[in-house]
This record gives sequence, structure tokens and C-alpha cells, in this order.
Amino acid sequence: MTQRLILASNNQGKLKEFNELLSSVGFSVHAQGEYDVPEADEPFHTFVENALQKARHASRLTGLPALADDSGVCVNAFGGAPGVLSARFAGEPKSDARNNEKMVADLARHEDKSAYYYCVLVLVRHADDPQPVIADGRWNGVMIDTPRGEGGFGYDPYFYIPSLGKCAAELSADEKNAMSHRGQALRALVEKLK
Ligand code: IMP
Repeated sequence: MTQRLILASNNQGKLKEFNELLSSVGFSVHAQGEYDVPEADEPFHTFVENALQKARHASRLTGLPALADDSGVCVNAFGGAPGVLSARFAGEPKSDARNNEKMVADLARHEDKSAYYYCVLVLVRHADDPQPVIADGRWNGVMIDTPRGEGGFGYDPYFYIPSLGKCAAELSADEKNAMSHRGQALRALVEKLK
């Protein structure tokens, strides 16, 4: 039997990606918007706390199991920033172009340009689940100062993977999923659910 799982996001790309992998462990994934669930606040300083908050919120309002992700880019020279604040690194309103401009400007005075994308996934069976299923993924790279590629989103044109000689924005969606922080976290989650 298929179990409905609410995704605490309305991102159609994530919905499709998550459905593809989670159908193998008996879930059909539905966006929280289908159930009129408004976006939850993300007030915390860690990815896992924010994801847990989002998953609980979606589960409480729907009465169904829920899955949330939280992700961002962590720059070693900045002590892991922008991290959970990645979407709004350059302030409101959120803008990938301004975030990347700030990234390049702030990193100019640092020699160490290494960074990583991080993603955590949290699945709760019900809103008060004492044992959420948690999986994470990390993708290492280097921030560059000149954009490359047209794919992806966010920091992808500036996130260079030395072993590939390419930026994340130069990869196809399948190539990116095979390596990315989100792809790693999703595969780890599926293993745990098996
Ligand atoms: P979210 O958790 O998917 O909302 O992502 C938070 C923010 O982190 C995004 O708005 C991007 O700025 C950044 N981010 C997370 N994952 C990626 C990625 O795969 N590529 C580029 N930027 C990302």
C-alpha cells in the first residue's frame, strides 16, 4: 500500500525528485500547498532544527507523515556562513544575483575559497514523533569569482568542483543529482527507510 507523505515545500523540482526515489519505499509525495499548509518559520541556527520545525508543522496541519529539507552553502573562510541564511545572504528581498555578488566581494580578501553545500532531510511519522528519520549530505567545492554554466540555481554558477573541472551550473540535472548534497541525503534517507 502507498503511504502519503507531505513535503514541507512547494518546489516542483524537489517534489519530482523526491517522488522518484521515495516511491521505491512505498511513499507518494505531495506538496504541502495541496493541503493549504502555509510555510513554517525557520528561526533556528542549524539546518536540522529548521528542517525538523518544517516537517512537524506540515505533519501537524495535515495529520500525515511529513518530510522537510533544509540546505545551504557553507564557506570555510566564513566559519560556515552563510549556512542556514544562504537564501538571504545579501538581505531582503532574497536574490540569487545579489547573494552571489556579495559572495564574490566578501571572498576576495580570503585565500581559502573552499566551500560545501549541505542538505539535511527530516522525516516525521507524526507531529510528535520522538524518533524522526534524519539523513544528510555534503558536497565539497570551491567558490570562483566568474560565473560558469546556465543550469541549477542559487550559487551553482560560482560553485566549482575541481574533480570535474566544472561548476554545478554546468551539470545536467541528472549529473547534479548523482553528486549533490540533496541527492546524497535523499539516497541516505531511502536506505534508512528500507
Ligand atoms: P533551500 O533549503 O532549498 O531553500 O535552499 C536554501 C538556499 O541555499 C537556496 O536559496 C540557495 O541559496 C542555497 N542552495 C541550497 N542548495 C543549493 C544548490 O543545490 N545550488 C545552489 N544553491 C543552493
